[in-house]
Amino acid sequence: MSYELCKKVRELEPYEPISGTYRVRLDANESFFDMPDEIRGEIRDIIDRTAFNRYPDPTAKKLNEAFASYYKISPDNVTATNGSDEMLYLLASAMLQKGSRVVVTDPDFSMYAFYSFLSENEILTYRKDEYLNIDVDALISFIKENKADMLIFSNPCNPTGCGIKAEDARKLVDSVGDCLVVLDEAYMDFWDQSLISEAADHDNLIVLKTASKAVGCAALRLGFAVANKTITRALRAVKSPYNVNSLSQAIGECIYRHVDMLEKSRDEIIKSRSELYKGLYGLILNYKLTSSIYMPCANFVFMKDENAGDMFRYLLSEGIAVRYFKNAGALRITAGTDEENTELLAALERYIHENVVKINR
Ligand SMILES: *Cc1c(COP(=O)(O)O)cnc(C)c1O
Repeated sequence: MSYELCKKVRELEPYEPISGTYRVRLDANESFFDMPDEIRGEIRDIIDRTAFNRYPDPTAKKLNEAFASYYKISPDNVTATNGSDEMLYLLASAMLQKGSRVVVTDPDFSMYAFYSFLSENEILTYRKDEYLNIDVDALISFIKENKADMLIFSNPCNPTGCGIKAEDARKLVDSVGDCLVVLDEAYMDFWDQSLISEAADHDNLIVLKTASKAVGCAALRLGFAVANKTITRALRAVKSPYNVNSLSQAIGECIYRHVDMLEKSRDEIIKSRSELYKGLYGLILNYKLTSSIYMPCANFVFMKDENAGDMFRYLLSEGIAVRYFKNAGALRITAGTDEENTELLAALERYIHENVVKINR
């Protein structure tokens, strides 16, 4: 008998973002700001001071302090990880018993269900309404009826860009006392309905943050979980000891201390997002498209269109990468620089001229 992969992993494909090189990358919700030269200088000093022969600080103390100071919370409630992705895996595996019942919403970030699948949890899906909203009362009932152990969702949501108000999120957390609520606020820097400052006051809440989006450091792989001390102690206990490398810790610490730079770039990204939304909305009106577009709370715009697949391939052929969601028949377009947004809109308009307008005639 020869070794065979277990059934669970036999059919899985390695994660592949869009392959190939594209002039304009609006597919991964990254920040369009790279590090300013001034900070690059500080990063060079950090590299010079790094003890490469030593293991990193397992508690990521200074990094957590800088992160906590930026969000005006206590570092005692923070756990740093190798991207939020690491925490998502830990939540599905280490923080739950096998067979636990996990509620995810649809559409939402696909990694939640993926890690729950790997961890052999039971996945229960709450479907959003046609406007892609969460009906909080219905979700509360769904959780109670199914005796769920954990709810995980993103707010604002990736990929829809829609969000629920802080008061609704709070009601949700308070109404499902024995269910752990994981609130992924990866994009909350672009909106103002965060529960991060009250995470420590709840018994069943974990708020997730990342340095990959508004903070512009996807390359560093830095994620953070914020929760009360009991949960935080458990998270620190289950993570691998040296999960965040020394360079990422020190560079992350440096970047979270640059409050002005972070706020300025965040504001620019929000401005770009609004311009992109306006531009897309204008195309829909001008050409009487039947697309649906959703008021964005994050750094991207979600647009459903019957020709989404064709649009996606056309944009690729023009050197522009966006994200295509086949099941939803939708595009998710990250806000880019002014030039990138203009290029994207011009290419879409060309597509519409060459294809849709003729069909509609
Ligand atoms: C991008 C993203 C993250 C961040 O993942 P990292 O591993 O920290 O890069 C987390 N959640 C959602 C919903 C995201 O879109």
